[in-house]
Amino acid sequence: MKKLFVKTYGCQMNAYDSAKMADLLAPLGYEAADAPEGADMVILNTCHIREKAAEKVYSELGRLKTLKAKKARDGGRMVLAVAGCVAQAEGAEIVARAPVVDLVVGPQSYHRLPEMIARAAREQGHVLETDFPALEKFDSLAEPSATGISAFLTVQEGCDKFCTFCVVPYTRGAEQSRPPQAILREAEKLAEKGAREIVLLGQNVNAYDDPSSDDTRWSLAKLCEAIAKIEGIARIRYTTSHPRDMAGDLIAAHRDNPKLMPYLHLPVQSGSDAVLDAMNRQHSADDYRRLVDRIRTAQPDIALTSDFIVGFPGESDADFDATLKLVRDIGYATAFSFKYSKRPGTPASTMRKQIPEDVKAARLAALQKELLDQQHKFDDSQIGRTLPVLFEKTARDGGQIMGRTPYLQPVHVKADAGLIGQVRDVAITRRTANSLHGALA
Ligand code: SF4
Repeated sequence: MKKLFVKTYGCQMNAYDSAKMADLLAPLGYEAADAPEGADMVILNTCHIREKAAEKVYSELGRLKTLKAKKARDGGRMVLAVAGCVAQAEGAEIVARAPVVDLVVGPQSYHRLPEMIARAAREQGHVLETDFPALEKFDSLAEPSATGISAFLTVQEGCDKFCTFCVVPYTRGAEQSRPPQAILREAEKLAEKGAREIVLLGQNVNAYDDPSSDDTRWSLAKLCEAIAKIEGIARIRYTTSHPRDMAGDLIAAHRDNPKLMPYLHLPVQSGSDAVLDAMNRQHSADDYRRLVDRIRTAQPDIALTSDFIVGFPGESDADFDATLKLVRDIGYATAFSFKYSKRPGTPASTMRKQIPEDVKAARLAALQKELLDQQHKFDDSQIGRTLPVLFEKTARDGGQIMGRTPYLQPVHVKADAGLIGQVRDVAITRRTANSLHGALA
């Protein structure tokens, strides 16, 4: 067998893509390795979202160059591939700056990896694939070879929203939905392999819109309804949603589909209309408040989470206060928050009135304090309740297993590992920093 080492940066979509690439290469005789030393193929599956992403990739390539040279001295060959959003954004520049790279493959071209490896071996040159045929990619992906209790399933890729701070529309292309039949087939396979929870993934997952038919169009709600009928599937989640695509039938599904978990990640980014406008989010803070009201009217017992960016160009103290106010008005179960940082090629990166680092840091600290207080309040509100918990794995503490509540909180329980894969009622007794603890009810 040949050794394959995949290093994954960034989001769940990338983790999913890494697993898919490994599945795709298994028939070529590649098996997963824990480290790049001695590997026959190394893939850096990159992410463009974080600051200095490209620089991190180049410094990792510097380290891999030494390993590749050693492999050659030992009479072998290490094929080095850069995949993911940095590959898409930088393309030929990667090969120019790091000739050690054999393959550069954009997120929509992974299905061509076997062919690209063959071409790289034959031509001993560099092979680049960074087109956007997402549907072709969806059709050509290998079946899942292994899965956990909770499994990701990509249903949609790309984004048409063009938020001014974000590279995704440039690196992942336009919004494209995968045909429902293929999604249901993959969901059935995942269930057969032991998945009890399916997490539907997409950059704008709630923009899902079946491309294949007009009169019987499939929305995300309809997809969740069909997946709920698959034997073995106990829970469904989806991420990440855009407020503008939160359709009425999806809101109703949170009330009517008992397998759709009462948990929604609905990024708002800012509570200031001026900043939302500059971000091109195409909704106001009050639009978001009204949307949350509709969601909570349909399903009062729902955990909401969000993403926030502080220190966006032009953000005033009053704008930031509006974000704090929105956070207090909504009340989140948890949330992710970041300082704004420039992404090359995005409109916001050249906006005037960039915010000084110390101001960004102070705002982030204030926001994170508020969000952490809310998270603790939400977690504490579960103490004394009995919640259905889907057990996923053994915990690090001996004799304990770890599962999740419907609201995605991790729960540790002293119980037999034979319960992994089952949903059991757990009486929640206490909270520690990031998890709940309880006993089987
Ligand atoms: S909706 Fe999300 S993925 Fe699309 S541009 Fe905005 S932040 Fe990026």
